[in-house]
This record gives sequence, C-alpha cells and structure tokens, in this order.
Amino acid sequence: MSTEAIPVTIARGDGIGPEIMDATLEILQASGANLAFEEIQIGESVYKRGIMNGMEPSAWESLRRTKVFLKAPITTPQGGGYKSLNVTIRGALGLFANIRPCVSYHPFVNTKHPQMDVVIVRENEEDLYAGIEYRQTQGVTQAVKLISRPGSEKIIRYAFEYARANHRRKVTAFVKDNIMKISDGLFHRVFDEIAAEYPEIEAETMIIDIGAARLADTPEHFDVIVTLNLYGDIISDIAAQITGSVGLAGSSNIGDQCAMFEAIHGSAPTIAGKGIANPSGLILASVMMLVHIGQAEAAEKIHNAWLKMIEDGIHTVDIFKRGVSKARVGTRDFAANLIDRLGERPTTLTPASYPVDVKATLTGFALKEVVPADKRLVGVDVFLDHRGGNGDELAAKVQPLVGDGLKLAMISNRGQKVWPEGVGETFCTDHWRLRVMGEGKDAPVQPGRIAELLGRLGEGGFDVVQTASLYTYDGAPGFSLAQGQ
Ligand code: NAD
Repeated sequence: MSTEAIPVTIARGDGIGPEIMDATLEILQASGANLAFEEIQIGESVYKRGIMNGMEPSAWESLRRTKVFLKAPITTPQGGGYKSLNVTIRGALGLFANIRPCVSYHPFVNTKHPQMDVVIVRENEEDLYAGIEYRQTQGVTQAVKLISRPGSEKIIRYAFEYARANHRRKVTAFVKDNIMKISDGLFHRVFDEIAAEYPEIEAETMIIDIGAARLADTPEHFDVIVTLNLYGDIISDIAAQITGSVGLAGSSNIGDQCAMFEAIHGSAPTIAGKGIANPSGLILASVMMLVHIGQAEAAEKIHNAWLKMIEDGIHTVDIFKRGVSKARVGTRDFAANLIDRLGERPTTLTPASYPVDVKATLTGFALKEVVPADKRLVGVDVFLDHRGGNGDELAAKVQPLVGDGLKLAMISNRGQKVWPEGVGETFCTDHWRLRVMGEGKDAPVQPGRIAELLGRLGEGGFDVVQTASLYTYDGAPGFSLAQGQ
C-alpha cells in the first residue's frame, strides 16, 4: 500500500445520501484504506441557491485536484431548467466509460437468475446523449446520433482491458447495425478490429434487441457487455434489476484523468432519515474506487466482508426475507457488522479478488492511426419544411430549380423514398428530403454549386431547414440510401 494518503472528493448528497455515506466512510476507515477525504456540497441545496448544474465552482476545483469522486445520490429538482449533475460531471471531466457489475447473490438474495455475473461497459459521452436536437418543422423533431471512431475505440479497448485484468472470458458488443449501418456499423467494425488484439478473450456481437432479450432471459450467457450510450443506459438498469435488487449495485465512471464512483440507486426520499437504507450500493462503489486507485488489498477486504454479511443473513429491510435472512439491521448496524467481519471471506459465494494495478492499463489508451481517406463531395441532401402534396408534385416544382450540373436523384419523407416511383400509401409529414447529386456517376460537385442551388430554392419559396453534404470516402458512399431506394 502507498504511504501517502490518496485524496478523494466526497459528497453526501440528498435523501438517504448522508446516511449511506457515513456508513461507507466508517467502513473505509476501518479497512485500512489510505485515503484523505475532501468534502463538497452538491445537489438539492445547491440547485436551490440558483446554481443550475447543482455544483459550486469550489467543488469543481476539488474534483480537478483530487480526480477521484465518491458521490452519494442526489435529488434532481423537476423542471425549471436544472441540468443533470451526472451528465454535466461526465461531460466536463471526460468520463467516457460507465462500468456496472450486475451480480446475483443466490441463495442469499432472492433472484430468478442464480448464475448471473455480468459487467456492463457503457459508452458515456456520445450517441444520442450528445444532446444535439432540433425542431425542424411544425411537426418533426430530430436528435443527432453521433458515434466517433476515437470514442468507440476508447470504450471497446476499455472493455477488453477490463476483461483481461479481471480474468473475464468473453466480451459481447450490442449494436443495431442491421438498421444503422454507418453509425452502429462503425462501432461494430472497431469492435472487430480491437477484438483481434485480444485472442485469449472470446468476442461476439449481438443485435441489441435479441441481445437484451437474452440478457433478461439467460444472463449467464454473458460476461462483459460493451455497448453504446443509449442501449447501455437501458440494459444496465434491466441487468441490475434482474440480479434481485437495484439497492446492491455500485458503478464507476472512468476517464483518462478523473473517475467518479456511486451507487446506482437514487436518493430514496421516502425512507430518508429513518436509518433503514441499504448502504451496499455505495460500499461496492467504494470498492471499485479502491481498485481504481491501486488499493486492491483494502478493496478485497471490504468486498469479502460484505459478501460474508450477505451469506450470514445480516440484511437491510429491502432484501430481508423470512427463512433466508437471519437479522434485519439498519444502516449503522449494517456498517458495524461489516466492520466486525473485515478479514473474513465468504464460504459459498465466490470471494472477490482484484488486480493490483489497473489504472495503468485501463486509461490513457493510444488511438489507432487512421490513414486519411480520399474524400469527395458528390451531392447534398436538402431538407425542406413543406406542407401538402406528394413526392411527384414536389419533384415537379423542384426540378426546374436544380440543373447546373446537378440532378434531383430522390425525394424521401421520414427516410422513406417517395420519388421516383413512390407508392401512394406512404404517409408524408411536412419534412422532406431532396437528394441532389452531381450529374454522371460519382461526379464531383463544386461546393459553390450547392450554395447556388440553396439560393434558387430560397428564391423559389422553399423553406430549407437543413442540409447534409454527401461525400464518398475512397469511393465508398459516406451516406445511407433511403428506405426503398
Ligand atoms: P430511488 O432509487 O431513489 O428509489 C427507488 C426505490 O428503491 C424506492 O422505493 C426506494 O425507497 C428504494 N431504494 C433506493 N435505494 C435504496 C436503498 N439504498 N435502500 C433501500 N431502499 C432503496 O429512485 P427514485 O425514487 O426514482 O428517485 C428518487 C430521487 O433520486 C429523484 O430525485 C431522482 O432524480 C434521484 N436519482 C439520483 C440518482 C443519482 O444521484 N445518481 C440516480 C437515480 C435517481
């Protein structure tokens, strides 16, 4: 163990937060973990002072200094333009990976899935959570799904390095590239490239819908799952729930510089102050924190004492079950009983065993070198706010305005081709896409031609709400075809 205490920023949060934080800190201190705590204020009281992201500037300074954050849950005020503290912290501190181990503790905690031991590795910064949304017409809105090669590389490499460090046998990627061939397709391609560097770890890919169904039905099929932000958000709650209790799981948010650790549950305001909350989620989050900062010995000690508690049937009310549990304890007694067991190991459940130094292998990955492709502008998609009519009528109005080395190739509505050869049954909204290409196959287009086209459409009375340039990369299209094209 290092001789110098590692500084850690802590926040007691709202609701049951202070109770479960006190219990966790007592256990950390008794375990011999070498930590120096700095406390900051976050959450409801800070929001109420008019700080819209729930955190004072001085709190940010502490986080930047310590780079390690153990956070109790907070109560997020409803409405009123308040920003999610978690989303703000993840973005500002570059916490690209969200890790959530979902384990069942059969036969000591009731579960339909006695064999479950799955770790969800969720990309945390991009996808639909980039928050780029538009209302484009009266009736049509849009959210942009951003998937980057560096973002995909970082999270996928994290999953494989995590699997290697923790002696896991398999990594499964969940994607939807049968539909989103370019964005999810990139994630899939990067997964295949990186998996090839880890021949000792089995790699598989599943379409998210069947993957989620199998996870809910046969979680023992899975080991480590890596996936995009939205899919990960949804499946990590399903996975935690089916272990038997969401009150038991901790999670980490890892970045190259900083990391944040917390329970997965919220501030449980209805039981706040009653002394009955289960502190296990925050305790197991603190175990993840100790592993991250290289104090594996204290992490193992706390985790094994916690597993022994669960085996001994010393349970809080949320997991107490007559016939299985032996004693119903409150938050403080749970901590006291756990401290009594420090140094003990479980006899039925698998004891915890952690790698000594994971920080070096799990952050600061070098990105692959990418050879720049030959990128050519070959057309433009022009989105119009336009009411009434059908594809044929719109084509007849637009075509005289195209010309000048360009040609109208297709019109779609909500991604469905409606011209040429549309079908009368297709329902159309007020949001249309004109696909305009250079004349002749793969003919390059001068950007000025596109600007002139937009000018002519404007003069012709059309309301252009968005454009997207169409490029080829080494001759391959960097854009999708319309449904039915
Ligand atoms: P919740 O997780 O607080 O509570 C859901 C249910 O689980 C409740 O019945 C609660 O009593 C119970 N529960 C939760 N944790 C428990 C524990 N440790 N021990 C025993 N029982 C426990 O979810 P919610 O009610 O939807 O949200 C309450 C507040 O928490 C909201 O303001 C929400 O925005 C916030 N929240 C914060 C975070 C966070 O800070 N990371 C996460 C989720 C929700």
